[in-house]
Amino acid sequence: MSSQDDFDFDTRAVRAAGYRTEFGEHSEAMFLTSSYVFESAAHAASRFSGEKPGMVYSRFTNPTVDAFSARLASLEGAEAGIATASGMAAILALCLGLLKTGDKVLVSQSVFGSTVQVFTNIFSRFGIEAVFVPLSDLDGWRAAMAPNVRFLYVETPSNPLTEVGDVAALAKIAHDGGALLVVDNCFCTPALQRPIEQGADLVVHSATKYIDGQGRVLGGAIVGSEKLIKDSLLPILRTAGPSLSPFNAWVLLKGLETLSIRMERSCQTALALATWLESHPAIERVYYPGLPSHPQHELAMRQQSLGGAIVSFDVKGGRDAAWRLIDNTKLISITANLGDTKSTITHPASTTHGRIPPEARLAAGIKEGLIRVSVGLESAADLQADLARGLG
Ligand SMILES: *Cc1c(COP(=O)(O)O)cnc(C)c1O
Repeated sequence: MSSQDDFDFDTRAVRAAGYRTEFGEHSEAMFLTSSYVFESAAHAASRFSGEKPGMVYSRFTNPTVDAFSARLASLEGAEAGIATASGMAAILALCLGLLKTGDKVLVSQSVFGSTVQVFTNIFSRFGIEAVFVPLSDLDGWRAAMAPNVRFLYVETPSNPLTEVGDVAALAKIAHDGGALLVVDNCFCTPALQRPIEQGADLVVHSATKYIDGQGRVLGGAIVGSEKLIKDSLLPILRTAGPSLSPFNAWVLLKGLETLSIRMERSCQTALALATWLESHPAIERVYYPGLPSHPQHELAMRQQSLGGAIVSFDVKGGRDAAWRLIDNTKLISITANLGDTKSTITHPASTTHGRIPPEARLAAGIKEGLIRVSVGLESAADLQADLARGLG
């Protein structure tokens, strides 16, 4: 693997952590096996104790799953990784591996809804306090630091308003206070942004989104230093078992091979759509980090190579106008999912953010006219025509 790390990103996406059996297959084989056989009782004992390296049981060792996590780690510039059954399983493993009663975590206010619930509904019951901080308020993060803060947790850009968090600055705040910085890199993927190179300690993924990229399987991962992975996270995988199925790992391993060209095309189309929307008289405001008008455009372009494939915008005329636009699409799928080759459209105020009280929702910037589009691989012209139909 270390020799593979000398290759460029696109080469590693296809080749890193590849493996080949005696049959010489060109595409990596899928190892659908729950357990492994040993040559002798002593051999079994040495594998179980970790004295001899090798496969033991697929809850924590499987060639296909290991290849996926190692290839992703290579792409993120991380030393090691674990793969999990879903993005939420990764976040659960992260908390189980790093936190204990009495600890505190600082969490960006703009993270995935279920991530908020993990902290507020589950870990709060075990005496772990989560303090929520506005993503780009660096003074707020500094002020919230305390000796028992174990990690800072952010997503950047945020969903759905594409606010950008300064990873290097957040890493410094975390490290100055003896804490770790964890970044959920689901929206950019390592094809656009590598938080570890900017000082983050751990990167979390919902591989369900762009890494699969074709809406087929669930999966998740955490990558970081060998020490954090081996000492804190692998033991959780081994004993608590939020493990990734080898079948899903194989699909995700193949997903990594095309990740960078898929991201590049989706980002190009997203920028074209965002530019067109910004000039449209029926649109009040466009949220897209790749637009020079984005308030954090410069920071975004410093830490990510392209603007991403999520475009959000406020339609003039509130909910009625937003719903009219959505109902007039014929191509774009009406669903809350994202990161698929098929573009999707969502009205956050009535779906993903529908359970938040209206005043709190507005305070968070989620207006009634807000629409979020996850841009896939259809042609830019067809997507533009599909959005234009409902823009009266
Ligand atoms: C979807 C998502 C998750 C959860 O991932 P699952 O694979 O659905 O469990 C976590 N974080 C972000 C940013 C997501 O978009």
